[in-house]
Amino acid sequence: MLYCARCGLRYPVNIGVWRCICQGELEYDNPHEIVVPDLNDLIPRPCSIWRYREALPALEDEYIITFNEGYTPIITIKYHDIPIWLKLDFLCPTGSYKDRGTSVMISCLKQTGIKSVVEDSSGNAGASIAAYAGRAGMKCTVFVPSDTSPGKLIQIRAYGATIEMVDGTRQDVAKACQEAAEGNHNGETFYASHNWNPFFLEGIKTLAYEIWEQGVRNSIMPNWVVIPAGYGSCVLGAYRGFSDLVNQGKLHEIPRLIVVQAKNCAPVYEAYLRGGTEVLPIHGQRTIAEGIACSNPVRGSEILHAVRASGGVVMAVAEKEIECAAIELAKDGVFVEPTSAVVVAALKRLIDNEVISGNDIALGILTGTGLKATDYYGSRL
Ligand SMILES: [Zn+2]
Repeated sequence: MLYCARCGLRYPVNIGVWRCICQGELEYDNPHEIVVPDLNDLIPRPCSIWRYREALPALEDEYIITFNEGYTPIITIKYHDIPIWLKLDFLCPTGSYKDRGTSVMISCLKQTGIKSVVEDSSGNAGASIAAYAGRAGMKCTVFVPSDTSPGKLIQIRAYGATIEMVDGTRQDVAKACQEAAEGNHNGETFYASHNWNPFFLEGIKTLAYEIWEQGVRNSIMPNWVVIPAGYGSCVLGAYRGFSDLVNQGKLHEIPRLIVVQAKNCAPVYEAYLRGGTEVLPIHGQRTIAEGIACSNPVRGSEILHAVRASGGVVMAVAEKEIECAAIELAKDGVFVEPTSAVVVAALKRLIDNEVISGNDIALGILTGTGLKATDYYGSRL
């Protein structure tokens, strides 16, 4: 069943709704007990998110759409002789961590008979959904802002998706996409939104399971996890996954989550500074961390709750800090999009301020590949 996070109304999974009639976001109520397998049981499993299958929504084998995403490596770099651990999640098949959520979401939609999906995105989510929908044999249309640079659209088009350009703000693009889904009354076209769909978050939980598995096996279980946030799916998936592990006695406590935004567009940071429990919409400015340029996140209050419950903090980093971190990472051989570099910018500041020391294990999640940001790097090098 699905249920509304705001009013509690329940819906069958196969009814094809993407949000509640009260406009609240839907959550997935798994009818099965969520079980993250023991470390020994995991050894022979496939090296993908599906190694944690008992913790994911129940799916028949024939509906699972996968490119063996996940199981990404962790490396270390040093800053002032203090090690920083980095999870290279941009090595997922389409170049971003979003493949974890997309694999689960598209599989669930396929199982419920959806034949066509629409999505609004100009970047990583659009490419990811185009790839998985293509593999699932679904028709896919991605709505994008009309000022999106042509280079970013190539990957989406190459996977076979149709692109619809929309004039106006990011919100206008989302609205056009939602209207396209709602105007389709045969029930076969679905708004497969990475920001609204609860199955997407179910897949992102595997990030936490992997960090736990790799951390315990290699004695590098982090006490800090640093995550970029726009709409916050990476933070929320990680928080829910770590919560599962604590609930099952596999982890003593959730690592402290540090949520990082770009100072130019930081509604969660502003709410955190106010001590608020709700994120209010803002008018953000352009940022090179375009993947997290979100002025009104769907699950803002849950992001604030996750940070506070873990004993973490929300940070905002300036354009200059992001740029320095991106260029330095690339010089270290780690080529990520500027959106991912916010994590390292934040870690450097935390080490400079002696919040993180050599006694800590701080792990940052690098979410997207630099190959999607060649326009940016081309103008800097
Ligand atoms: Zn509701």
